[in-house]
Amino acid sequence: MHEMSLMSEIINLVSEDARLRAIQKVSKIEVIVGSLSNVLPEALEIAFFYFQKQGLELIDEETELHIIRETAQSKCKNCGFEFEPDYQIALCPKCEWTDCLLVKGETFKVESYEGSDGT
Ligand SMILES: [Zn+2]
Repeated sequence: MHEMSLMSEIINLVSEDARLRAIQKVSKIEVIVGSLSNVLPEALEIAFFYFQKQGLELIDEETELHIIRETAQSKCKNCGFEFEPDYQIALCPKCEWTDCLLVKGETFKVESYEGSDGT
């Protein structure tokens, strides 16, 4: 399950940034997961649940993980038709052109996080 190491990276990234801002507790982390990013949101949640129990400095059981699911979208370079592809490489359902541009769906990133400085 590579979501375990991805979640670990997210937590490190957020924690580092939060420390710089003198944040004492992270209350919410927002992550964007594209449907073609090879990341399973459910597995990511399980990984997060595991880290919540680890007694980390900034993240505990009150920290919320919010996963924003990004639907994949492709655009045909021939006819301009936009559709939701099942894979990175897709045929245009209208003209069967093979050269389609993946507009979105591969995103995997921390969108934002919220925290409090304890005051
Ligand atoms: Zn087309």
